[in-house]
Amino acid sequence: MAYDYDDENIFAKILRGEIPNKTVHETEHTLAFHDIRPQAPLHVLLIPKGPYVNSDHFGLEASDAEILDFYRTLAKLSHDLGVAPGADGPGYRLIGNSGDHAHQEVPHFHMHLMAGRSLGAMLVNPA
Ligand code: 5GP
Repeated sequence: MAYDYDDENIFAKILRGEIPNKTVHETEHTLAFHDIRPQAPLHVLLIPKGPYVNSDHFGLEASDAEILDFYRTLAKLSHDLGVAPGADGPGYRLIGNSGDHAHQEVPHFHMHLMAGRSLGAMLVNPA
């Protein structure tokens, strides 16, 4: 399977330190930072540091260590930010856009962690 990673995408530039970001948390393989155009009171982006285009690319080709670190960091973050329902938090939504139909804007795999209010229906225009 061929995935074509664009080194000039905005998150690659953030990872190289060419563009500033408001970092929330960083590990060996993962970076979490605030979305520049928040769509909820809390809107954090979580990205692997490796060059993966989208969720299927990451799931198929990332190392076990990268995948473990990504999802463990995501879970810990939900606790640290006080939104994890498993720790009596109010809950949160994860969104991962992959490809054209999902309107993925930045071609570097990322998950949106959104919280801070009741977020309403999952899709604005359900099928
Ligand atoms: P997508 O549509 O690809 O799932 O989401 C991309 C997200 O990246 C958007 O929510 C957008 O606001 C965010 N974004 C785009 N450029 C930048 C940037 O330069 N810095 C940060 N922090 N977020 C960005």
